[in-house]
Parts: sequence; structure tokens; C-alpha cells
Amino acid sequence: MLFLSGIHPKRKASLLTKEEKTALFKACKSVMEEAIAKHGRLAESDLFDKPGNYVPILNKETLGAPCPNCGTPIEKAAIAGSASYFCPKCQKI
Ligand SMILES: [Zn+2]
Repeated sequence: MLFLSGIHPKRKASLLTKEEKTALFKACKSVMEEAIAKHGRLAESDLFDKPGNYVPILNKETLGAPCPNCGTPIEKAAIAGSASYFCPKCQKI
């Protein structure tokens, strides 16, 4: 969601512009619709035990791989106890 909206995972939500909030809202809606349609994340299942098939654009497998937009290697950051993968060029703080 953050990758699609061009927002760095360490960016404070209180500093987002109106345009960034709009982009993030649209990305959240788009990603959630895709994840629901695919019954959730790969290796998980939905409430009806249908196996999930959703894979985020950036994930642990893409760490160090070229960004799909600009080719910059994907990086990882620890955010609130969770790993976040991002492009340091496309996603500005
Ligand atoms: Zn990039």
C-alpha cells in the first residue's frame, strides 16, 4: 500500500499531505480488494478455508531485488516490531 502510494514506511502519518492521504486511501482499497479476491496471503487461508494466493508487491523475497518501478534495490526496515520492505528512491520520507 505504501509502495503504491510512494510513501516511506517510516514517514509519520501526521505529516502526510492531502494528496498522499488520497493516494494511500486508493492504494489501501485496491490492495484489500485484490487480497480478498485472492482469499488472503499466500500460505494462509480465508474464513472458509480457501487457500490464499495474494503476494504483496514487496516482500521478503524481493529484498535486494530491483524495484519494479525504478530498479533501485529493495530495502527492509523494522517498523513497530514488523518488517517493512520499500524502495528508497520511490518512497520518500
Ligand atoms: Zn523504486
